[in-house]
Order: sequence, then C-alpha cells, then structure tokens
Amino acid sequence: MISCSLERLDDKIKTFSKFGDTGKGGITRFSLSHEATAARAEFKKRMEALGATVVTDDMANMYATLPGAEDLPAIATGSHLDSVRQGGNYDGVLGVLAAMEAAETIVRENIPHRHPITVVVWTNEEGARFEPAMMSSGVITGKFDKAAMLKSFAKDVPGYSFGEALEKSGYKGSEENRLTADKYAALIELHIEQGPVLDSEGIDIGVVEGVCGMINYEFTFTGQAGHAGTTPMKYRKDALYAAVKAIQHLHDELDRLDSRLVYTTGKISCHPNIHTIIPGEVKFTLDARHQDPKVLKKVMDIIKKMPAEIEKCKTGYREDWSRKTVNFTPGLVDIVERCAREYGYSSRRMYSGPGHDAQYLIDLIPTTMIFVPSVGGHSHSELEHTPTESCLKGVNVLLDTLLTIDSTK
Ligand SMILES: [Zn+2]
Repeated sequence: MISCSLERLDDKIKTFSKFGDTGKGGITRFSLSHEATAARAEFKKRMEALGATVVTDDMANMYATLPGAEDLPAIATGSHLDSVRQGGNYDGVLGVLAAMEAAETIVRENIPHRHPITVVVWTNEEGARFEPAMMSSGVITGKFDKAAMLKSFAKDVPGYSFGEALEKSGYKGSEENRLTADKYAALIELHIEQGPVLDSEGIDIGVVEGVCGMINYEFTFTGQAGHAGTTPMKYRKDALYAAVKAIQHLHDELDRLDSRLVYTTGKISCHPNIHTIIPGEVKFTLDARHQDPKVLKKVMDIIKKMPAEIEKCKTGYREDWSRKTVNFTPGLVDIVERCAREYGYSSRRMYSGPGHDAQYLIDLIPTTMIFVPSVGGHSHSELEHTPTESCLKGVNVLLDTLLTIDSTK
C-alpha cells in the first residue's frame, strides 16, 4: 500500500500552525483576517508548486486543481483554514493539509488519475468572526442568501462587514468558479473527530455516516422576584428553583431514550441575578443531537409534556432552531471503510455531532467524511491535538479513497 509522507505532513502541520499562533499551542485565525490570508497564500504557493491551477469563487472559496488524464468532473477534497478564538492546529486545517499531502503524493509518485483532483478551502466555516458558521459552503449550495451574508458584521472589528473583508482579502473570485454538480464528481472531507470516542477506544479512523440532526430549545420560568430576607419559603415563586427541577426532570427522562443521544444545557440566565433577590425569571437552553429523527421526536415529546407550572412558577418553551440529520453517500462511506481495512487500520462507523461544510455539499454532489482521533477529545481549544502518525493514517485513507473513486466513477 502506498503511504503519504510523515515528514511532509509534519512540516505542513508545523508551517500552518504559525499563521495566527497564540504562543500557547493553538491559533486564532479568524476568517479573512491577516493571519488567514497568510495561510491562504502559503496554500496557493504550495499547490502551484505542485502544478495545480488555483482559482477562487465569489465567496473566496479556493480550488487548487491538478489536471486529470481524461476530460471528467473533478474529485474534490479539503476543509477550512479559519479557526475560533484560541482554537487548535487541527480543526479544519488538517483536512486541507491532508488533501494537500494526498495531492503531493500523487504528483511526486506519479500516480495516474483520470479525474482532476481539486483541493478545496472553504471560507468562514467557523462563523467565529462573521456569523453564521459554514457561510460560504452554505451560499454556494443555496442555504444562505449571499446578499445577506455580505452584510454580516465582524465580531472583532465594529462595522466591518464580511463583504468588505472579502473585497480587501484579495481572494474574491468569480461565481463561475463555484463547485457545481456538473464540474465535480465527489467530495471527501477529512476532519478531526472533535470528541473523545476514537481516542478513548483506540480506533484509527472514523467512518462518518452523516451529521446528527439537532434541536435547540429555550425554556422560560416565570416566578416572582422578592426580598431574600422577608419572603418566607412557602410564599416564594423561585424561578431558578423551578428551572433546576426542570433540568433534573429533563435529564432523568432523556437518559432513558438512547445512549447515543447527547444533550446540553449550556446557557442559563437568571433575573435579576442579585444575591439578595429571589429570581423572578430564568431561561435556559437545551441542545439535543442524534442521528435518528425518531429519537429527536421523542425528545420533543418529553419537552411538550413539561407541566405548565413547576414550584408555582409558569413554564414555557420555544424551539430556537433545528437541523435535520444528514446522511452521507453510502457508496462513498463504504469505500472509506474498505480503504481503512486495506491499510490494516481499525475503524468505526459514526455520526458527526458538530456541523461541517460537507453536510451542505452533499446537496450538490456525492460526499462523505473521514475522522481521525482527537487526543482527549479536545477541540475548539489550544489543547487540540492529534499525533502526526494518527493524522497520516487518515491521509492514507483519504488518498486511497480518492484513487478508488477515480478508478470506479
Ligand atoms: Zn472544522
């Protein structure tokens, strides 16, 4: 079996870790920032050195294409180069570096391929600077209105819009360069798992079947604010106490559903939030994710059965937003699994909890993802780490997957 180069991959990881280096093991590389455009320039330079033609579309998504032997649609692979504030050196960027290393191996080893191979960089995946996340893959797949996206304002520079950043970046290209179904045959995105499963189970490769559906609710508890010293317990309508009981109730009920269900109360607000006043109003969120819509339906049923009153406080809830489960192309999922097996790597099928650009691209072309382990499950943090040896296994599976698609499509 052909292997990509550990040394070259290591060099790529180290080089790209410099763009936005926080000095504490991670990066802050907001989309279209100075740091991000420096990373893009390095990407362009390296891909052109391999003989690739690099173009950008109107959302500054980059496409670096190695020509194929035949006049066929291209096979695409890549991810994003932007990060969250004090993020790690692997989320997104590893998918780009893996694609670059697979392409470099093809060039250096003179591996014949019929289809063009395109390494893609998606703009503003994180949404850490300009909301929403997955903005540019969302625009080219018709999920978001482009005009509205151009007006998205930066969180770090007041009054600075995505549209202005796009103009200033030097990477705004033309709409005709967008990835479309007629020009592209398939897309493979390699990514770190961003969770602890592969690492704790000692598994090399995550064969990603899709992206979990997700629901987000906000609950409101209305009681009566009152003096902490004068209101006897029996007269109180303590909204925080009601909320705590509701959270406990939700946990008890949701834990019975399915071991793969994940749910989180990550945000809570307490009004007036003063230590001498009984809380009059409390809100909290519930984020629940599962691949099976039937399980999410059961979560909603549990929410709907919430009593109208808890501890004399009025309860309410509303759905904030949701997303449907995305299933990747079964034939490609099978290829990834088979390629991992051929290399003798252990693998397991899984769904992604976080969202990725690939979940939008599947609306255009056959798509799947490959996960590599995240040590300790750390992600969106400077602690994010995957040993280069583990990354290389993912890159090898990526290369083999690309070549398998090339020979069968
Ligand atoms: Zn990512």
